Amino acid sequence: MSVSIDTFEPARRAALRPAGTADARRPLIGLDRAGLAEALAEIGVPERQRRMRVQQLWHWLYVRGVSDFSAMFNISRELRTALDARFTIARPEIAEEQVSADGTRKWLLRFPPRGAGRPVEVETVYIPEDGRGTLCVSSQVGCTLTCSFCHTGTQKLVRNLTAGEILDQLLVARDRLGDFPDAATPDGAIVPAAGRKVTNIVMMGMGEPLYNFDNVKQALLIASDGEGLSLSKRRITLSTSGVVPEIYRTGEEIGVMLAISLHAVRDELRDELVPINKKYPLEALLEACRAYPGLSNARRITFEYVMLKGVNDSLDDARALVRLLRGIPAKINLIPFNPWPGSRYECSDWEAIEAFAEHVNRAGYASPIRTPRGRDILAACGQLKSESERLRKADRLALEAMMIAGHGEA
Ligand code: SAH
Ligand code: SF4
Repeated sequence: MSVSIDTFEPARRAALRPAGTADARRPLIGLDRAGLAEALAEIGVPERQRRMRVQQLWHWLYVRGVSDFSAMFNISRELRTALDARFTIARPEIAEEQVSADGTRKWLLRFPPRGAGRPVEVETVYIPEDGRGTLCVSSQVGCTLTCSFCHTGTQKLVRNLTAGEILDQLLVARDRLGDFPDAATPDGAIVPAAGRKVTNIVMMGMGEPLYNFDNVKQALLIASDGEGLSLSKRRITLSTSGVVPEIYRTGEEIGVMLAISLHAVRDELRDELVPINKKYPLEALLEACRAYPGLSNARRITFEYVMLKGVNDSLDDARALVRLLRGIPAKINLIPFNPWPGSRYECSDWEAIEAFAEHVNRAGYASPIRTPRGRDILAACGQLKSESERLRKADRLALEAMMIAGHGEA
């Protein structure tokens, strides 16, 4: 099995400022049009020009994907210098890139400190499939919730990611996959949807996206903006453990596809596996699902169900699942449990997963079993962890962040 690992030296960026110091310039990525207009006002761009300048910036940032003001050739040198003095559009550092034998890629991104904070690291995963490519994006570093089968749940919340940091994950992936038009492409050209590598986004990386609602909303509205990154909302899926009030808001204010981390069909068991269930039990959760706007057979809610041996994988569970979801346009995604050091569960036997899938399928629900992708990278992470005891502390922390973020993409 061949695994290539490229490590990126942060030399260029580090050379720009003394090691460990924060860049005082504010990021423009993640601002909406009103935010960009305010930024332009701050550096003295007259009001009558702002609309046009915002349009130009939007195009450079989200259609052309530039990460340096100097590339914006239709903007005067004077304005570019003024922008560069106060703002940044630089990408985060790619601390590590791993490519699996099956084409899955993982990037460990290091975001600079914000204020007096520390740099944070998150992982983004790209999964190529026939006819599409899905990017698995993180919303938080760590998680406040403590789902008992999830490695992220063992890491305390470090902080929410900003809208810019959420979008940066998409921008870095598109850079690395050659998904932005290159300099030779005529001005104004947009890579047609059919030719793109990243065709779908799933908010299934680290963190609970609905506990970082405003930033996730802003990032997803920018990602789906038709004059910019142009990802259709039907190709963006937000996965939640069940933050009921924000499920209603997601439907009203964001309008992307919804995935629910269900994992159990009885409150007693779900209280244990997904403890937010104590606050928002199954009945309230399913009511919010029923009310989700725009549902139809072509626009279904995905229910994720992790297969835990002897815990939630019986045929009784499958029957109860079918009863529970009655009347909701639904697809059931069965996820083989991905063990991690110290986890107290085992993955269900393959026969149990197949029998479960077959029952649900016969009841009329699509019930794909999520194929593990990039396992070789995960295996490598597992091996590296024991090795890591001998590594520098910084390297060890980076490896741990990788292990933690690797949880959800089995
Ligand atoms: N916090 C959100 C999104 C991130 S987790 C949520 O909980 O939905 C993405 C998916 O991976 C969720 O369905 C989650 O339950 C699942 N997951 C977490 N740990 C897992 C593990 N060890 N094996 C398989 N799936 C896991
Ligand atoms: Fe947080 Fe989701 Fe993991 Fe639960 S499954 S601990 S909500 S990341």
